[in-house]
Amino acid sequence: MPTTPDVSTSAPTPLASQPPGTTARPSAKPDVADEKATWTQQILLAAFVVIPFLAVLAAVPVAWGWGLNWHDVIIFAVFYVISGLGVTVGYHRYFTHSSFKANKPLRIALAIAGSLAVEGPVITWVSDHRRHHKYSDKEGDPHSPWRFGSDWKALTKGLLWAHTGWLFDPNNTSQEKFSPDLLADSAIRKTDDFFAAWVGVSLLGPALIGGLWGMSFHAALTAFFWASLVRIALLHHVTWSINSVCHVWGNEDFTARDKSRNVAWLAILSFGESWHNLHHADPTCARHGALRGQVDSSARLIWAFEKLGWAWDVRWPDEERLATKRSATSTRVLGSMTKQNALKNASDRHGNDEKSIKDPRQADRQAA
Ligand SMILES: [Zn+2]
Ligand SMILES: [Zn+2]
Repeated sequence: MPTTPDVSTSAPTPLASQPPGTTARPSAKPDVADEKATWTQQILLAAFVVIPFLAVLAAVPVAWGWGLNWHDVIIFAVFYVISGLGVTVGYHRYFTHSSFKANKPLRIALAIAGSLAVEGPVITWVSDHRRHHKYSDKEGDPHSPWRFGSDWKALTKGLLWAHTGWLFDPNNTSQEKFSPDLLADSAIRKTDDFFAAWVGVSLLGPALIGGLWGMSFHAALTAFFWASLVRIALLHHVTWSINSVCHVWGNEDFTARDKSRNVAWLAILSFGESWHNLHHADPTCARHGALRGQVDSSARLIWAFEKLGWAWDVRWPDEERLATKRSATSTRVLGSMTKQNALKNASDRHGNDEKSIKDPRQADRQAA
């Protein structure tokens, strides 16, 4: 199989109107500015992300008078988790970044599970995302919120663009350039070609299950509403928030050459993808929530696949590799699943409790 193209090492052209301090121009400014987003920017951002979605959640059931029953909640949760992890573990960490190797059944299953999120066929998604990493927050990035500049008007426009606007950009990312490895894989091409069928399964599967479970057309309809429509809308907005929110607002625990941030409040819903600052600092790392206490359920699933023998060569956080990427203000120690053998003495600095952790499950319990 052809190797994954390296999209993380080139030096892209800065955007026409760069946020101060983020340019790669030869003016010796650092790639990442110390400057944070202003309060105005943050309030606009919160309003933009939270209010429309709360409106959908609150208004529609009230209008229909349906409420919500526990069958719908369970079907919603199951489909949210399968399609969500399909995107995060499959589309993103596996297909885009080769964070681990997988056997063929798992490879196909991940491509199908990711397709259920209705975020596009796997090769399209991967190509767009590899392009995002190659040019992150510079000219050529398909969805940077800094595209139009850094004043509040430009950032509002940029957030709308990064969240959903870019999806309507008629310029398609070249799959030949960004995903030759996936194009060369006939099974993945076939899975990609069947995308419309996976969308059908994602939309009608919950209705079928709900209808059979409740033995009524009404039950099928409410399951369709909650576990298909609302579930897809929620997952869409969570995924898009990684592109918009996580490039503007949050902590810089690591040094990346872009404006990527770690955003704690999105970690559970996004299955750990909102630890986006680490991800841009070390894109192939299988655990994005690499610091202690950072919840990352996608990493936990990869860990389970590894234990089952379905996945191997997992690129777990490496203390030595990450040591060079920590920002000056970042003091939290690395969490479980970290390779520490390269820097044996480092565990002494972090205290005996960290050193004594052998079982990652134990580590997570201690971190909780
Ligand atoms: Zn990003
Ligand atoms: Zn990525």
